[in-house]
Amino acid sequence: MDFKFTEEQELLRDNIREFCEKELTAEYVRWLDENCNFPPDDLVKKLADMDFFGLTVPEEHGGQGMGMVDFCIVSEELATASVAVAISMGLSPAFGARPISELGNDDQKAKHLPRIASGEEKWCMALTEPAGGTDILGAISTTAEKDGDSYVVNGAKMFISGAHVADYILLIAITDKDVKRSKGLSILIVDAKSPGVTINLVEKVGIHACGTCEIFFDDVRVPAENLLGTENMGWYHILGTLNPERIGTSMLSLGIAKAAFRDALAYSKERTAFGKPIGQFQIIQHYLAETAIEIENARNLIYKCAWLCDNKERYDVEATMAKIVACRASEKAALYGMEIFGGYGFTMEYDAQRHFRDYKQMMFSPISDEMSMNYIAQSYGLPKSY
Ligand SMILES: Cc1cc2nc3c(=O)[nH]c(=O)nc-3n(C[C@H](O)[C@H](O)[C@H](O)COP(=O)(O)OP(=O)(O)OC[C@H]3O[C@@H](n4cnc5c(N)ncnc54)[C@H](O)[C@@H]3O)c2cc1C
Repeated sequence: MDFKFTEEQELLRDNIREFCEKELTAEYVRWLDENCNFPPDDLVKKLADMDFFGLTVPEEHGGQGMGMVDFCIVSEELATASVAVAISMGLSPAFGARPISELGNDDQKAKHLPRIASGEEKWCMALTEPAGGTDILGAISTTAEKDGDSYVVNGAKMFISGAHVADYILLIAITDKDVKRSKGLSILIVDAKSPGVTINLVEKVGIHACGTCEIFFDDVRVPAENLLGTENMGWYHILGTLNPERIGTSMLSLGIAKAAFRDALAYSKERTAFGKPIGQFQIIQHYLAETAIEIENARNLIYKCAWLCDNKERYDVEATMAKIVACRASEKAALYGMEIFGGYGFTMEYDAQRHFRDYKQMMFSPISDEMSMNYIAQSYGLPKSY
């Protein structure tokens, strides 16, 4: 068993860490949170120049053909510096590059992969609907009806990250109403500028610099050639995207946890009470120690999942566990962080409040912790509780 990164991976980590120290300073990240609903183009360009978007794109399509462990290394650094930047920048690799690499035909790969790798194309993924995300097969009602050489899409999607800046929407819609829902869904590549597409930002509590949207589709014509994968196999295809997404989301939670821990640790050394730094009090030390344990635990499980993924082994249950362990680490770090900052934690002057707002998104997106627990229990042979 080898817990060490390779030399190339160490270099990759050093490069992205250096980038984060230079470009994602605490002041800049605060500015992003207060002013932006997506990272500005110049930051996107800088990441593109570092080949960030092509990390996992196959080499023959202009990328670097790296694996999930490599992606996690970069994501860990980015998410610790700014979870909003890490999510925003992860959308196109996760919802464009990966599904197209795995499901796309030659034309789709040639058209999209080089442009995703160069950072020119932005993507989002539209699965959740206003009627519900957890029971998506029960809630989904967006349809894509075949009409000549097009699909005509009608319906609405909810909580779609980055849709307001996306060039393309990876849409999951009903293409056969007359069969069991899981056997009647398809994935379509929708040009976000198509007539009939309306995208509105939804106001939310945290992770402001990665906007979340509602999308309406009103008789939107999508060329039939934009079908991704096999018609009516969309549910099974998308499950293949959701598993790696769980690893990615776990890394985002880990980033929040590490940032909250870092800030609280620094404050515990600076702030004094009763003539001592508060970090000398045992309870503060225990808050920090407990958080450190959870961070280490989450980090190990996430990298194990990434390794399983790269080695083509099954990792769905482990990734679901990692999602929960990392969320809980971020929750602990954010809550203890607020305790350690005392009254200042509740002001907008320090970043403790941002970690406290940000961690919450990860508890239910892309899958809620409650549903994750159901999935894990079922994997041990227990009956469905719902
Ligand atoms: C900021 C943000 C960004 C998002 N980005 C995207 C995106 O880019 N693309 C996308 O498609 N979706 C996205 N989502 C949607 C996300 O995946 C859903 O919010 C999530 O699946 C939960 O669905 P819901 O919000 O409709 O909650 P509901 O499904 O209504 O669930 C409400 C509550 O009931 C619980 N519950 C439901 N069923 C059960 C059960 N059987 N057992 C136990 N508890 C249960 C849930 O755990 C939850 O606590 C995003 C959401 C947010 C808030």
